[in-house]
Amino acid sequence: MVITMHEGCPKMEVAKVISALRDAGLEPRIISPDPRVVLGVVEEISQAEAKRLSRDIGGLPGVEEITNFEKSWKLASKSFREQPTTIDLGSVTVGGPEVLVVGGPCAVESRENFLETAALLDRAGAGALRGGAFKPRSSPYSFRGLGEEGLKIMAEARERTGLPIVTEVLSASEVELVARYADVLQIGTRNMQNFSLLEAVGDTDRPVLLKRGMMASIKELLLSAEYILARGNWQVMLCERGIRTFETETRNTLDLSAVPLLKQYTHLPVVVDPSHAAGKRELVPSLALAAVAAGADGILVEVHPRPEEALSDGRQSLEPSEFAAMMERLRKVASAVGRSVREAAA
Ligand code: PEP
Ligand code: MN
Repeated sequence: MVITMHEGCPKMEVAKVISALRDAGLEPRIISPDPRVVLGVVEEISQAEAKRLSRDIGGLPGVEEITNFEKSWKLASKSFREQPTTIDLGSVTVGGPEVLVVGGPCAVESRENFLETAALLDRAGAGALRGGAFKPRSSPYSFRGLGEEGLKIMAEARERTGLPIVTEVLSASEVELVARYADVLQIGTRNMQNFSLLEAVGDTDRPVLLKRGMMASIKELLLSAEYILARGNWQVMLCERGIRTFETETRNTLDLSAVPLLKQYTHLPVVVDPSHAAGKRELVPSLALAAVAAGADGILVEVHPRPEEALSDGRQSLEPSEFAAMMERLRKVASAVGRSVREAAA
């Protein structure tokens, strides 16, 4: 429910509306303080209760209009916040004209490997580094990451390059540990509906990269984002990473429509991960270019210095030289759509 007050109405009238809503057991939030106060109530209520409230609240002085949120996602919706949300990562402000490019291996495998990759990515113009320390593997026997040691290696790479680090957190009990090192907390596709994890990252002050579940709809992705926003963490980026379809030539099917759709529905930045979508490195640059052309605010790309030696996802990882070549092409596409990508070192 969205309650719009008359322009310039006295504070007392706003306070009365807020207290009437609280009396009904609801917690109104201020969507916009001016030029007219707009209040949002996100709690689900029965139709009968909504009718009663509309009548009672609608009769209070200062109330101009009461409408309902158009969709079931609320805090993420454009009706809650019209202006795009921007997230300052230091190197790049995500959601503005600059396109965030996150690069790095699927997993942090060793200090030498990660620091070498980080330096190459920095030189090629990446805006952030990725790497998994806690890896969600389909098989429990696969390499599952270095744990805290991996986080320390990433923190060292950040010190050396100045680039923020993006890394996945797998469970609510590990959020505090991962948040101590990470600049961005990644929620993986398998955890998109792990609601206690979503609430735990919602309680931190760290930006969150929320990946779409491989079998989740766009609406479900937005509802998962609500869990984080509702805890007061507004720094959420949504990530399309491919969904399961009947097609087997690619690991997943990149749902490029998700980009313009999400841009239409939400103020949150939208990132695309072409690596996990394609599963094949030769497809990654084309999908990355297409994502930026379609309006993505960022891309997340796996890069490994020697992909054939990678402990996970080598088949979809770019070599550093391929990453640098992709960046050159990306700058042209970005500029064609009024965006920019960090320059490479001279
Ligand atoms: C990853 O980014 O390394 C990863 C595991 O991604 P996803 O959760 O999309 O599979
Ligand atoms: Mn991976």
